[in-house]
Amino acid sequence: MKVVPNGILTVDVEDISCANFPLQAEYTPEEKNIEKGVKEILALLASTQSRATFFILGEIAKKKPALVKEIVKSKNKVASHGMTHRLVYQIGSKEFRREIQDSRKLLEDISGERVIGYRAPSWSIDENSLWALDILQEEGFLYDSSIFPVKNFLYGIDNFPPYPHQIGKLWEIPPSTLPFPRKRLPIGGGAYFRFFPAFLISQGLKWLSRRKIPLVLYFHTWEILPPEKLPAYSLFHQLIVTHNLSCLKNKVDRILEMGKFFSIEEYLDA
Ligand SMILES: [Zn+2]
Repeated sequence: MKVVPNGILTVDVEDISCANFPLQAEYTPEEKNIEKGVKEILALLASTQSRATFFILGEIAKKKPALVKEIVKSKNKVASHGMTHRLVYQIGSKEFRREIQDSRKLLEDISGERVIGYRAPSWSIDENSLWALDILQEEGFLYDSSIFPVKNFLYGIDNFPPYPHQIGKLWEIPPSTLPFPRKRLPIGGGAYFRFFPAFLISQGLKWLSRRKIPLVLYFHTWEILPPEKLPAYSLFHQLIVTHNLSCLKNKVDRILEMGKFFSIEEYLDA
């Protein structure tokens, strides 16, 4: 039974070393792996008649323009993930404006399509960097997907509306959470996807779907196809970035079987 009528699927295209945690040893990104990961995701989307928005880091788009073209050719959408994966609350407003201008121009030049959306590196629009939403509007972006509606040590805003909504003219598309009495439970992707069993995630998604709450899911290319050599992080950071990496692909397969998923652009059009 198809129980996910309007799920939104998003993919962050970047290397695993983008996680904004200090590396304990030198690490060379396996760029071929990013390419393979995107192709695998495109094949998965085609086989399930789903589509997604790909938030592509500018540094990757610059090196792999053919990949951007392939995503667009397959009727999926591309959006900005900034140029460099530096955190918004660290770079300040001037650098932020330059990052979104440069990355959008790059993606538009390569794809020939208008880019209307943005996702901050590591969900780094929080209560100290909400000025970024004004800049996105000034620069003509139509949506943002950068605010995690649960606070943790790195990002997030507790009590932020946990479903797609408008702030002025800008749509905000936060990842899915389940309402729990003390703290919301994030089930929309990333490390949470890898920590929680597939059964809990699919039950949670069904629960939201039955209440007509739009699902917003996300994962990274490196979670679908991990690099052969993993970067060296501290034990704690390793747990967040690489725990259960090998099981994510199967979970995504199962979730895509639940129903049809759309890009953010298709969702907003509808
Ligand atoms: Zn990222």
